[in-house]
Amino acid sequence: MKFGTKAIHAGIEPDPTTGAIMTPIYQTSTYVQESPGKHKGYEYARTQNPTRNVLQNNLAALENGKHGICYSSGLGATDAILKLFKPGDEIIASNDLYGGTYRIMVRVFQEFGLKFNFVDLSDATKLEAAITPATKMVWIETPTNPLLRLVDIAAIAAVTKQHGIQLVVDNTFASPYLQNPLDLGADIVMHSVTKYLGGHSDTVMGAIVLNDDETAQRLAFIQNACGAVPGPQDCFLVLRGIKTLHVRMQRHCENAQKVAEYLQQHPKVSQVHYPGLPSHIGHELAKKQMRGFGGMLSFELKGDSMPEAVRVMESFEVFSLGESLGGVESLCTHPASMTHASIPKEERIKNGLKDTLIRLSVGIEDVEDLIQDLEQAID
Ligand SMILES: *Cc1c(COP(=O)(O)O)cnc(C)c1O
Repeated sequence: MKFGTKAIHAGIEPDPTTGAIMTPIYQTSTYVQESPGKHKGYEYARTQNPTRNVLQNNLAALENGKHGICYSSGLGATDAILKLFKPGDEIIASNDLYGGTYRIMVRVFQEFGLKFNFVDLSDATKLEAAITPATKMVWIETPTNPLLRLVDIAAIAAVTKQHGIQLVVDNTFASPYLQNPLDLGADIVMHSVTKYLGGHSDTVMGAIVLNDDETAQRLAFIQNACGAVPGPQDCFLVLRGIKTLHVRMQRHCENAQKVAEYLQQHPKVSQVHYPGLPSHIGHELAKKQMRGFGGMLSFELKGDSMPEAVRVMESFEVFSLGESLGGVESLCTHPASMTHASIPKEERIKNGLKDTLIRLSVGIEDVEDLIQDLEQAID
């Protein structure tokens, strides 16, 4: 089955009791048993819910994986993955991470004795030297947030396999439509479903897809034991969102490419970070590893003036200023003061994240209106 067909049909059957073509919202906390322990496979809704099951199977199919497990948010999924480890275990993470991922690692799990080493993994050759006997997992994000740097999944996976270490890829920015990390050698794919998968800025959710039965069983155990489960209404909304994922992503890619090309020739813009531009450092790798370049980009204004960047963002009429990404509507953020504010300034500057950087989540509106909005805001 090809992607668009899977998005609409994989894991989804008409409701067995009524024939309803859309998966019903099973808004229930418990299920009636015939006699103690004799039930239809459902006991309590933290443990199993039919709406959630359908979504989990659909997500697994989209990532070409065996098991899908959903959590109440992307960070809920990250939390579950990090709970696979014990004090003293070491995790190597790329140094260009979503701010909340950095925060949960350093401010929560480091307190419980997990060790983290942040390395620039856009250069895959740097991984080998960072591995110690305690290293249990490598965590990457590609394209990265907000500089859209690329990490070579297959090259990193070759090293992790050789050392018997697990590789996790946060695939939120690409979505399964553009990139399938399991096919490139990753062990676990993690998503903030809140973004492109949900696609309509109306739900917060996370997901994990993987092939290994034992790890999947442990993650499902953590899902139930720790309780970070999504509600059935949210599962329904995400199932509905996914049905147009392929169509939305095509338009996100087309619009972002045109916006990037427009910004690149703008006299007031010093740099545009978009993998679809031949000048982008990760362009060749993106062509190899992804099926399109995505809807995310960032750019820097000339002159390095923070108030000027703030004024541009205040002047937008179509782009809305707000955190998050991946919805049908265009959004802009100021990473230094918003999404990445939890990363210390020295760390931010070291990673090339300037105070004048503006990040765009290019939506699926008419691109002429988006370009016109950029033109008036920057002028
Ligand atoms: C938003 C995001 C997360 C966290 O997901 P939530 O659903 O907000 O908890 C993790 N990684 C990336 C790349 C994100 O954009």
